[in-house]
Amino acid sequence: MSSTSTAVADEILRVVNPATGELITTLPAATTREVAEAAERGHRVYEGGAWSGLPPRERAAVLLRLADLMERDAEILARLDTEDAGKPITECRTGDVPGAIESIRWFAEAADKIFGRLAPTGHEHLGLISREPVGVAAAILPWNYPLAMAAWKVGPALAAGNSLLLKPAEATPRSALYLARLAAEAGLPEGVLTVLPGHGPVAGTALARDRYVGALSFTGSTATGRRILADAAETNFKRISLEMGGKSPQVLMADALSFGDELIDHMIEAAFLTMGQNCTAGSRVLVHQDIAGEVIERFTAAAQALVIGDPAEPETRIGPLISHDAFKRVATAVDSARAAGAQIHTAGLPHGLPPRGAYYPPTVVTRAPERSEVLTRELFGPVVTVQTFASETEAVRLANATEYGLAASVWTRDLDAAFRLARGIQAGVVSVNAYSEGDITTPFGGWKQSGFGGAEKSTSAFEQWTRQKTVWIRTR
Ligand code: NAD
Repeated sequence: MSSTSTAVADEILRVVNPATGELITTLPAATTREVAEAAERGHRVYEGGAWSGLPPRERAAVLLRLADLMERDAEILARLDTEDAGKPITECRTGDVPGAIESIRWFAEAADKIFGRLAPTGHEHLGLISREPVGVAAAILPWNYPLAMAAWKVGPALAAGNSLLLKPAEATPRSALYLARLAAEAGLPEGVLTVLPGHGPVAGTALARDRYVGALSFTGSTATGRRILADAAETNFKRISLEMGGKSPQVLMADALSFGDELIDHMIEAAFLTMGQNCTAGSRVLVHQDIAGEVIERFTAAAQALVIGDPAEPETRIGPLISHDAFKRVATAVDSARAAGAQIHTAGLPHGLPPRGAYYPPTVVTRAPERSEVLTRELFGPVVTVQTFASETEAVRLANATEYGLAASVWTRDLDAAFRLARGIQAGVVSVNAYSEGDITTPFGGWKQSGFGGAEKSTSAFEQWTRQKTVWIRTR
């Protein structure tokens, strides 16, 4: 629980460093009752108006102070995520933490820019359309981008005036707890932000079923999203936003190699950022048959050159997977692809890695049989498949041949082809000649079984955290 909450624990969370297997700390896990109490308190605080009733500019000032404090403690935040999640420290220093600070700052600045609308009525009426906070909001987070995902939720939810209950993933609660401490230091009134470290089936379920919670934003696996939606349906129909898994394609047209090393660099980042444990990982390379040989050779060589090691070291690009269970899942999928006739390209692991870390080497899989698991299931590890195509139509068919639709990239200098592909690919974000999710100004969210309900980032994020009201006034 956050420093401001009263926790009576009847369960424990064990936070373990995935690189070494060492226990970092144990924490009380929030119980069902504690979640209910936190929600009730959030409701009281919301009704009291200490935060929800502030002029938006004053809320903005507090959140801007929070962003400054995150900047002050950036290195602490980076280390917390590296230790808890095994993420390479350079990724945390250059990506997750600055991105999280930017989110808080951007939504702080947007707090007093959520305008309402005036309906085009006749002279005898005024139709005022406004957006209001949902009251008590909740967010459930994954372990792969602990601070970054927290910031995507905290920024807009608090800027809009809600009370927020935040449940980090079991493995990675410490950066969210630290964020709550910084928020208190920044002047956020008590009870507005409550961090509830806890187990998914207990604390997560309690949030999904709570009757005070008016909106819940979830980022995690598709299986859990399905459960949460059912819980909301069985209780109070709270508004649910789901950001879930992916199996995103990187489509390389016949002229893609004209981008040179830049192409390979982006492909590597797409595939292996956070060891491929990234919802938007470009885990399926789809390449035109004319350039497939050279692409596979260069991409495989670059993958094999990635530095594998202690995530706390700045040169490390590949740290451990989050757990040995994750390792088994990835290894089993690759083994069965091999057994089905696929070719596996990997340099294996270097000597001297901490023996208890679940390290898996960057791996490229070619010639996997169509519809095999390695091509369709989100593996969430450093494993990339390569498939070839002969035509644009076939590229689009392969790109769309999964149940997911989170992201995609397209590489070509032919602008017409790029537009046609971007239009044909079923995904929430398609980047052209880059691997990118866009920036804070562009909405992010998935299609198909990757998500629905409202985007993250940009002013679209406020749709998750506010509800629309019409005030109809008869004038005389
Ligand atoms: P997960 O679904 O196992 O857990 C996510 C969160 O849900 C955790 O906080 C967990 O405690 C909680 N949870 C588990 N069971 C629950 C239940 N029954 N009710 C309520 N909450 C419950 O996912 P994960 O393994 O932590 O994260 C990996 C997944 O997240 C991948 O599928 C990845 O693609 C996805 N992800 C998506 C995005 C996105 O923006 N689309 C971003 C990051 C990660």
